[in-house]
Amino acid sequence: RAKADGRGCFKLYAEHMDTALRERRAMEGELRSAVANGELELHYQPLAEIEDGRVIGFEALVRWNNPRRGQVPPAKFIPLAEETGMIHDIGDWVIRQACRDATGWPAHMKVSVNLSGKQLTSFKMVQRVLDALHESGLPPQRLELEVTESVLINDPETTLELLRNLRELGVSIALDDFGTGYSSLSYLVRFPFDKLKIDSSFVQGAAESPENLAIVRSILSLAGYLNITTLAEGIETREHIELLRSEGCQQVQGFLLDKPMPQNALHQFSRYPIAGEEVAS
Ligand code: C2E
Ligand code: MG
Ligand code: MG
Ligand code: MG
Repeated sequence: RAKADGRGCFKLYAEHMDTALRERRAMEGELRSAVANGELELHYQPLAEIEDGRVIGFEALVRWNNPRRGQVPPAKFIPLAEETGMIHDIGDWVIRQACRDATGWPAHMKVSVNLSGKQLTSFKMVQRVLDALHESGLPPQRLELEVTESVLINDPETTLELLRNLRELGVSIALDDFGTGYSSLSYLVRFPFDKLKIDSSFVQGAAESPENLAIVRSILSLAGYLNITTLAEGIETREHIELLRSEGCQQVQGFLLDKPMPQNALHQFSRYPIAGEEVAS
């Protein structure tokens, strides 16, 4: 009896695996034609100065509009794109589209583009970025590339060299989701990151737990010594913004200002009412 149960259990498991595998294959096939079918879309979320709410630029966040699946968030397809190598074509499309879109914004605004670790394993990436800049005519100073600490795990020496080459083009480099990875603090000293984006988990937790507040404070203090700009991700409430301002963080991003929006929904917002006196009233 136990034996029968065990077999039944295995059968269920096997069926489940089969379904999961088939679903993955289906998704892979559909994702493969997503770029060519024009199913990818960029949404943009504003980044602002904490002092006066002035918009300094937008982060490009990719979405996949599939006729059958609806809008698929990046967390659902970027990992698959990385495993299958499709991230190179998708990443190319993202950076070229982002540069093109940004040429229509006020000249002081930057566009931030997320790069996955897989994109940073080859020096070809430098040429790809250069091509996107040339093709769009966007000055390199208006492009910021976001990388996470995880890109530094495998081969930090090569990755740091690649990032240096990218930076020599004139683009800036931000370290995204800072605090969630496992990178050594020494990388921060060895590589001149232009910006640290403090992960939303610490930002949102800072008001609730002294441990999170301690992490936020030490990141801000470290960045201050190294002369790196700081940005707090995931600002959802006025409490978040007031706390981060009082701790000396320089820039903010989050639903309190705006959610990511399609390019055609970006309009005349040059400043959000988040300055100290405006928040208080
Ligand atoms: P990320 O780069 O850290 O981007 C911020 C994510 O937080 C976005 O999710 C954004 O919509 C969300 N967010 C912004 N403000 C708030 C807030 O106040 N509260 C909350 N709860 N969330 C907020 P999204 O668009 O789903 O992107 C998720 C991740 O997918 C990104 O995290 C990034 O790592 C990756 N990603 C997005 N676009 C691309 C891309 O073009 N290429 C690559 N390689 N990765 C991308
Ligand atoms: Mg990012
Ligand atoms: Mg982030
Ligand atoms: Mg994050």
